[in-house]
Amino acid sequence: MSINVFLSVDFDADSAERLYYAKCPVKISKAQFDLNVGLDRLLTLFKKYEIKTTFFVPAWVAQEYPHHVEKIVRDEHEIGLHGYKHEKLNELSREKELELLHKSLKILQSFSDINGFRKPYWEISENTLDILTELKIIYDSSLKGCDFPYIQKTRKGALVELPIEDFLDDWVLFEIDRKGPEEVLSMWKGEFESSLHLNIPYISIIVHPSCIGRASRLTMLEKLINHILTQGGAFKRGIEIVSDFLKMTGNKVTVPPLF
Ligand SMILES: [Zn+2]
Repeated sequence: MSINVFLSVDFDADSAERLYYAKCPVKISKAQFDLNVGLDRLLTLFKKYEIKTTFFVPAWVAQEYPHHVEKIVRDEHEIGLHGYKHEKLNELSREKELELLHKSLKILQSFSDINGFRKPYWEISENTLDILTELKIIYDSSLKGCDFPYIQKTRKGALVELPIEDFLDDWVLFEIDRKGPEEVLSMWKGEFESSLHLNIPYISIIVHPSCIGRASRLTMLEKLINHILTQGGAFKRGIEIVSDFLKMTGNKVTVPPLF
């Protein structure tokens, strides 16, 4: 069995810091590692292993740093919706959220087709999934209802969900839990191998260039990529994983609207 590996990137740059920490130069500087160093390192690594994946990008980042986003598109990666300035969507009214996501979608569509969405920060609002459906977004990658793709119904239709989990997110492990690269490698390898063992055809790993782009962590990621490739894992863009999922015969897990 082959596992579809969704090694996706949240390319936030200094969007959230400009919004929530505008008077914190060190936080802004750390976030700009994405722009100065992190993105190029990840693109180089992906090119070396011929990996095409999905980068979730706040639309403000695409406006401020278009050359960075053009580089991502030029390397044939997919771009996904990720808010305008990495807002906490659950703090917005429905009207404001619709306006913001619609505006962001239009901006990103000037770079490439947009199929998917991931939540900025840790939460969405009770309206987000409905709004995404209204905006004709095909898939979401914010929820945690299964450890393989499933159908998430909304009050306006349905989305394909490419689920995520915190222990498969570099930011949580390195920046919050302060784990070392070897421990993270062992956790992620363990999850991949266990997924193979249990015939789970999917694994999602989230990375942020300013986090995973640090030398020892990037070396760890390369070891993981090598391991996954030798075990037959297939790195794919979100929309390709969605397409594989929709082609699957048999019943698919379908979850009713959350509200
Ligand atoms: Zn983000």
